Order: sequence, then structure tokens, then C-alpha cells
Amino acid sequence: MTSVETLNTEWALAWMKGCAEQAHEHREELIELDRVIGDSDHGENVDRGFRAVVEKLEADAPASIVDVLKLTAKTLMSTVGGASGPLLGTAFLRAAKSVGSDELDSAGVAALIEAALEGITTRGKAQEGEKTMVDAWAPAARAAREQADAGAGAADVLRAAADAAAEGAEATIPLVATKGRASYLGERSAGHKDPGAASTALFIAAAAAAAAAAVKEG
Ligand code: ADP
Ligand code: MG
Repeated sequence: MTSVETLNTEWALAWMKGCAEQAHEHREELIELDRVIGDSDHGENVDRGFRAVVEKLEADAPASIVDVLKLTAKTLMSTVGGASGPLLGTAFLRAAKSVGSDELDSAGVAALIEAALEGITTRGKAQEGEKTMVDAWAPAARAAREQADAGAGAADVLRAAADAAAEGAEATIPLVATKGRASYLGERSAGHKDPGAASTALFIAAAAAAAAAAVKEG
């Protein structure tokens, strides 16, 4: 690392590896969440998807953050069935397009999360409060921007984003789903955490953990 406050390609690779680890570790929990208000496949979808991502990254060895994120997007779109594949794929594609240089500072990190959110809402048309992954990405994007504007470093920006995503995921419990498969349940979807919001919190926590490790090494 040239500076403790910028994140590079190593970070992006570590982030994706962390997503794969999280998806694998929490596979059963995500399956269970999706069993209650969906079709039981979310844990399997993200586990399979990110395992494929890690294999692809190891095979192709992309040399920039942009290329890591683009390859991730492409792989998720082609390996993850269901709603979450195209949504997360679009998120990472937009995130890639937001990256302007080889290293990300805190403002760049905030822009990346905002771009991911924009990709998801453009693709899925859900707004906050509809009990989807947007309910984790949106507060994460707000927290990231707030911290970046306040002068926090990239790792702290991601830590704040991860905390906000986890809170957002918890806050989906009382909501009634009005988008996605869970909306078929209507009022009966209330009382359960949204699986996509739960996995989003894990993925943003992985970004924060990778950044904290990079800063420590830097
Ligand atoms: P599927 O619903 O096709 O089985 P998954 O189980 O993998 O796909 O993913 C379900 C998750 O996708 C939901 O928990 C929700 O967070 C997210 N989701 C579904 N539809 C939308 C949408 N229109 N916008 C944002 N997120 C959505
Ligand atoms: Mg499902």
C-alpha cells in the first residue's frame, strides 16, 4: 500500500474472497431465512456465486480494482440464478464503473457503495422499506458518504457502512415485502429478516474487514 488510507487491487481481491468465505459460512442461515419468506435458495445462490468468483479471479488474475469488480459482476450474473444474481451483478458492474483510478480513497469508497446501490435500484426498482437488499445497501451508502465527508479514512468508511448495513438488515424484520418473491406472502412476510439484506450486510462487512487488514499492513 502506498498510503494507509487508500485501497488497491489486493483489497478488492481480498474483499471478494471474504464474500465467498462469508457466503459459505452463513450458507445455512441464509437458506433458512429464504425458506421462511422465499424459496430456500439464497444461501446456495450466493455460496455458489462467490465460489465461482474466487475461482475466476484466481484463474484470470485481474490487475486492477475495475477488472476485479467487472469479473465479479460477470461471474455472478452467469452463475447465480434467481433475483439476486442479476441484482448483485449489476451492483458490482456499476461499482466497477464508479472507480476512477487504481487506488480508492474514502470518497472513492463511498462512491463505489452508492454506485452499487444505484445499480440495484435501477435493475430491481425497489425502494427502501420494501424488504429487500436495498434496505441494507441504502443505509450503507448514506453512512459511507457521511463518514467520507467527515474526513474518515477508507477503512473507517467501510466499517460505518458495514454497521449501517447490519442495522438495515435487522430493520427489515417487521417490514412487509412488496418486491421480490417474499411479496407473494403479503403481510405474512412480516416478522422475518430479508435474506438478501442479510447477505448484503455480510458482503459489506467483508469489504470492511479486508480494508482493516490492508490498513494494518500499510
Ligand atoms: P429468488 O428470490 O429469485 O429466489 P434469491 O433467493 O437469491 O433469489 O434472492 C432473494 C433476495 O433478492 C431477497 O431477499 C431480496 O433481498 C432480493 N430482491 C428480490 N427482488 C428484489 C428487487 N426487486 N430489488 C432488490 N432486491 C430484491
Ligand atoms: Mg430465493
